Amino acid sequence: TGIRPEATMEDARRLLKRIYGYEDFRPGQTRVLETLLSGRDTVGIMPTGGGKSICYQIPALLLPGTTLVISPLISLMKDQVDALASLGIPAACLNSSMSLRETNRVLREAAEGAYKLLYIAPERLESERFEPLLRSMEVPFVAIDEAHCVSQWGHDFRTSYLHIAGLIRRFERRPLVAAFTATATDDVREDIVRLLGLHDPQVHVTGFDRPNLSFTVMRGAQREKVLLRYADMHADQAGIVYCATRKEVEHVYKTLVSHGVPAGMYHAGMRDADREEAQDRFLRDDIRVMVATNAFGMGIDKSNVRYVIHWNMPKNMEAYYQEAGRAGRDGEPGECILMFQGQDILTQKFLIEQSTSHPERKANELRRLRQMADFCHTQQCLRRYILQYFGDPDAPEACGRCGNCNDNSETEDITVEAQQIFSCIRRMRERFGMTLVAQVLKGSANKRIAQLSLDKLPTYGLMRAKTEREIFDLIQLLVADGYLTLTEGQYPVVKLLPRAAGVLKGEERVVRKTRKVTRQRQAGDDVF
Ligand code: ADP
Ligand code: ZN
Repeated sequence: TGIRPEATMEDARRLLKRIYGYEDFRPGQTRVLETLLSGRDTVGIMPTGGGKSICYQIPALLLPGTTLVISPLISLMKDQVDALASLGIPAACLNSSMSLRETNRVLREAAEGAYKLLYIAPERLESERFEPLLRSMEVPFVAIDEAHCVSQWGHDFRTSYLHIAGLIRRFERRPLVAAFTATATDDVREDIVRLLGLHDPQVHVTGFDRPNLSFTVMRGAQREKVLLRYADMHADQAGIVYCATRKEVEHVYKTLVSHGVPAGMYHAGMRDADREEAQDRFLRDDIRVMVATNAFGMGIDKSNVRYVIHWNMPKNMEAYYQEAGRAGRDGEPGECILMFQGQDILTQKFLIEQSTSHPERKANELRRLRQMADFCHTQQCLRRYILQYFGDPDAPEACGRCGNCNDNSETEDITVEAQQIFSCIRRMRERFGMTLVAQVLKGSANKRIAQLSLDKLPTYGLMRAKTEREIFDLIQLLVADGYLTLTEGQYPVVKLLPRAAGVLKGEERVVRKTRKVTRQRQAGDDVF
């Protein structure tokens, strides 16, 4: 299929050292490069800062001719071209901000083979003029940045991305193709492979770990008290507090200011000038704490943010990780604290109901919301949960540095209860939701149970000694910890995951942390 570079990983490593001055590739970069050097199309799922530029620049240098890099980010293009120039690598870009003269010069020089890399904005592919010119060049490799833009499921769909597959197809010799994105969802990944016309690509998910960040989830905390104390203890450090709504931004901002904390606020309902001022003051370290909605942070590069506090749970893990990831950009330690309240689930659910009517999309967003809620409930290592969510194979068993790893509260063995729940779900043929399972185990006299003859099951009333609520909480915990899963849709059904089989066979024990402060039952806890 593609064009195969006549180079080895050793050659790649030598270039890395000579040109970039780095000792070695990161594990994820190695996997992507090995695939590309074997001549196979590749999808690299990497977060911003994960080191993807090297993944296409190195092959570009190892291959003859000119590598095309398709990217929608004009400022990033310019930065990269300058950076490459300073490394002595000839590169140029083509985008709509350039004059006709400049454009013509670049095209002429590109046709002469003057560049190792040519960055091009996708809109340029729509022009009749460009495509034949590009195709007249020797192009062994096409790298597509922000590849999720090809998918309508992504958050940034661009029609011009749909022209890329055609361009690739019309080259006389099909170039090797690599697509990069930070979006982890399956539907977007599928679109990338299909709509960009990749040939049997190897998909690599890598680089999601941010070793310098620590993660903590606080459940049902007294948020104001915790925040004020935290801000006080970190008075000389910059931090961001994310809230779900404008109203909460204003409330938290007022609370901080009235306690003498130099804070600013930022949300979409403010005047542009006020927002800009708040942002500038934060960037100058004039104010230490920025209280903001998710409107804040896009394209803001402040490297010394030491903590990110979520006053509310965000709508999904992607949003959470992006926001939390604004801490510690400089590589120094950063702390990420999520202050979960059961109400957050209801709020986000309401927002999803409001924003989408498309049933498939809604189900998708609800599933992602549930995975976010699971993160707030899990007892496992939070870093592991994050990396597993994104599909990064470098996930550790336990990081030893997150709130859950460092949680030294007592543990309680709940293997027997877990076995009872799993066997009841199995007896019910994995066809019902959490509430009904809890009711059967409780031995409830509910009419529906009698109608379905579920009161004839041997597991009926097996957990009679507990309250229905306690049983429900146990089921929820088993979902959050990866023993059970819920189907999508309006009436999610509980199903067993392979891990539950080990418990049923007595090969694995299940434990529960008993928190020193017992968790208050909260609104929203049982909306799934
Ligand atoms: P992305 O394009 O994915 O946002 P970059 O390619 O700009 O990320 O890389 C992010 C940072 O990591 C840059 O400062 C880069 O120089 C650095 N980096 C990338 N690869 C390596 C490596 N193998 N060793 C050390 N630093 C690296
Ligand atoms: Zn951990």
